[in-house]
Amino acid sequence: VPEGPEVETVRRTLHPSVVNRRIVKATATGRRSVRRYGEGPVALAAFESDVTGLNITGTQRRGKYLWMTTDRGALVVHLRMSGQVLVCAPTDPGVVHTHIMLDLDDGAQVRFVDPRTFGEMWRTDDPIAELAHVGPDAVEGAADEAWFVDRLRTRRSPVKSVLLDQGFVSGIGNIYSDEICHRSGIRPTRLANTITKPKARLIAANTIDILNEAIALGGSSLRDGQYVDAHGVAGEASANHRVYDQLKAGCGTCGGPIKRQVIGGRSSYFCVACQK
Ligand SMILES: [Zn+2]
Repeated sequence: VPEGPEVETVRRTLHPSVVNRRIVKATATGRRSVRRYGEGPVALAAFESDVTGLNITGTQRRGKYLWMTTDRGALVVHLRMSGQVLVCAPTDPGVVHTHIMLDLDDGAQVRFVDPRTFGEMWRTDDPIAELAHVGPDAVEGAADEAWFVDRLRTRRSPVKSVLLDQGFVSGIGNIYSDEICHRSGIRPTRLANTITKPKARLIAANTIDILNEAIALGGSSLRDGQYVDAHGVAGEASANHRVYDQLKAGCGTCGGPIKRQVIGGRSSYFCVACQK
């Protein structure tokens, strides 16, 4: 599942291909991907006419939401479980599970591919208003240390669940919440309101570091092969994982055994020795 660093990598690799380009033709074939436009075939045509002719001026991201700014609002992409945004040539072979194709005025084609169909794309006049329920991007939120520490320490939930709450800060998912807890030496089950201020400051600092390190490595591509950047290239950040999915390898810090535990319905990994 793409988290903030993966979506940011998609944004960075997509940006040069779309900025200052015009969408000359849109082709939607996947109804689920354009479900904001209604149900049935009418949604496909409504999406196509809504985005054809848009002039793309830039790209932005908050948490797991990516959008292209245009001369008529923003074209939002939410990758959810398995979405991919790929820059292709129209002559490139078709990829299974392609639901949307955007032909640009320079001949490039942006494809939205999504095997599990939870992802979606839509145009909105005001992405900031539409994403008002989404907290600040996690790197920005953690940079406001006092705010982050205070908010974190008021919550009577496992710290992992708080980090995953997109209404608190956005962009942290299952992988990076485990890695942030590990580097901070804290169990993911620890109730956030029992964390000391110095420890909460450490969590803020590690949130910034871990997400930025993952962005620098192009995000985490897992064995399922579903996350790739806009050119179809896998990221290398999985090599940095010290606890996430490391049951066989052991803790990347001390070599000790990794424990897996379900927290709030999510599989979580931590080191019994390193994390208290
Ligand atoms: Zn350890």
